[in-house]
Amino acid sequence: MTSVETAKGSVVSTNLGRVLMHEHVFVISTEIQNNYPDEWGDEETRISDAADRLNELKAAGIDTILDPTAIGLGRYIPRIQLVAARTDINIVCATGLYTFNELPHYYQRRSPVNGVDPMATHFVQDITNGFADTGIKAGVIKCATDKLGLTPDVERTLRACAQAHRETGCPITTHTNAETKRGLDQQKIFAEEGVDLSRVVIGHCGDTNDIDYLQALLDQGSILGMDRFGIDGYLNTQQRVEVVAELCKRGHASQLVLSHDASCYIDWIEGEVPLAPLPNWHYLHISQDVVPALLQIGVTDGQIDEMLIRTPHRFLDSVNKGGY
Ligand SMILES: [Zn+2]
Repeated sequence: MTSVETAKGSVVSTNLGRVLMHEHVFVISTEIQNNYPDEWGDEETRISDAADRLNELKAAGIDTILDPTAIGLGRYIPRIQLVAARTDINIVCATGLYTFNELPHYYQRRSPVNGVDPMATHFVQDITNGFADTGIKAGVIKCATDKLGLTPDVERTLRACAQAHRETGCPITTHTNAETKRGLDQQKIFAEEGVDLSRVVIGHCGDTNDIDYLQALLDQGSILGMDRFGIDGYLNTQQRVEVVAELCKRGHASQLVLSHDASCYIDWIEGEVPLAPLPNWHYLHISQDVVPALLQIGVTDGQIDEMLIRTPHRFLDSVNKGGY
């Protein structure tokens, strides 16, 4: 038996249960919140609110979330540790870096040493030694490519993630802009870096119903993140359900994972979750609405288990295959 790292330590991979593969706990503009703390309010209240929401999710039948809150999204693992202590849900934490364009100046002026990017050195440290002095280790590597595409700094980030992946075996999960087919750019860079594309989740694929694009990503072996249920601005729930059903019908259930990309608190949009413009964008939408809708249009219980259990376990456990 092999184990997966979480905010409460190692968990045997077969005990991860049902997994939502892309949910944030907190998305925070750290420097703004540190200087203008009024909106965040009381730390204890935020932590207990997060624990309550995660306990509701556990009661709805979900056992694990993958929280891809990397550097750039306000990651602060000691706070996640406090939340984790108050819930039975497993939280898999992420290393990596989230930018659509430029790197933080910190990395811009630190160049690779003997071919090793200092970003990759940090990512490997999070995976092998843990985040700072928390004792918690990263279980996944996160990066992003948006409309701007492979800017020099985005490409450098992807290659640094691939380096850390090669060294540790830790799997990769991404943010993409689906409309501009950024997943293909990511697969190209990762393939150049020798990454086994079956150990990569191309994120936010559920934002499009361009089946040809999704099929092209599937053909190269990656897992698709159908991971923004509740964000109706790209596709509404019914449209997202139809795309998942079509891909299941084509025999790809084992290459799909489900999630919302929701949070307990996200300071990018004013207000508390669920936010007024996005009433379904919360942790419970898949359990309450999406799974019943999938079953109703012909997706089988076995395919649901594939997407929520077997594929997440296979992906998260791939760290145990080691580097290459
Ligand atoms: Zn996200």
